[in-house]
Amino acid sequence: MTTQTFQHLTPYLWVTQSPIFATNSGILIDAGQACLIDPGITEEEIRGIARFTLEQGASVQTIILTHGHWDHLLGPEYFPGVRVIAHTEYKHTLAQRSEAILQQISSWEAQAGILRSQPLRLPQPTLAFESVLHVHLGQYDLQLIPAPGHAADQIAIYEAERGMLWAGDMLSDAEIPLVSHNLSAYQDTLARLSALDVRVLIPGHGMPTDDPVEIRARLDGDQEYLQSLSTQVHAAVRAGKTLAETVEACAGIPFRQPEENAGPHRLNVESAFVELGGICETPAVGWMREEG
Ligand SMILES: [Zn+2]
Repeated sequence: MTTQTFQHLTPYLWVTQSPIFATNSGILIDAGQACLIDPGITEEEIRGIARFTLEQGASVQTIILTHGHWDHLLGPEYFPGVRVIAHTEYKHTLAQRSEAILQQISSWEAQAGILRSQPLRLPQPTLAFESVLHVHLGQYDLQLIPAPGHAADQIAIYEAERGMLWAGDMLSDAEIPLVSHNLSAYQDTLARLSALDVRVLIPGHGMPTDDPVEIRARLDGDQEYLQSLSTQVHAAVRAGKTLAETVEACAGIPFRQPEENAGPHRLNVESAFVELGGICETPAVGWMREEG
């Protein structure tokens, strides 16, 4: 059993990280109210989050789901009656992909040796929003901002007083941008987030940081990567290159931790090729092939 730790990042924010994909969960507390972001992943970890919240003298009012990927959805079943907030696109995710998501969860649970007494029901949002939503937590104003690109239903959470940005599955020190929804939407999202005053950055996976140099480096680095991807795939499509030739042409684009991220980079190139008008005979390429 590993000891669960809670990193205190701002007066109202604690982050706990699961060893599974270095996934971060947020506990935001002010004036006895608690709001959780993507609580997960294992039952033990989620119960630990509930216990920690109680020890701080707070009760959970709200759970925010950053997006509908399976590794972010396992918390709400342990907090019955608590309101769940997600983007309206998350409802489409549920309508279109519930079976596939449940399949991903059950294969992970089988691998991890987790036995369920009851079948999982994916969390339904009690509140879904379209554009920016303000959620009040004690004296703080949390802005929930649509942030598509990695997922169509993804949101980021920003609190201006402390410059806190919870970035969903973006701006990680470990991952490159995973462009599993749409490249130009991802670029727009990062351009908007880049204009914010960010002093504390928490990615969905990887290390949180309050180092201004590191924060700027992640924002700039990921934007540069996406720009190179866009430029090079555009050029390849215009030149009539095939998918394989385009993958080859994009092999030189620099990105962090090249060994771990070679697979995701290839998927990014393939998805961008289709998005930018490249023609290929295989129906499912890139992230479509991964997501089923
Ligand atoms: Zn994700």
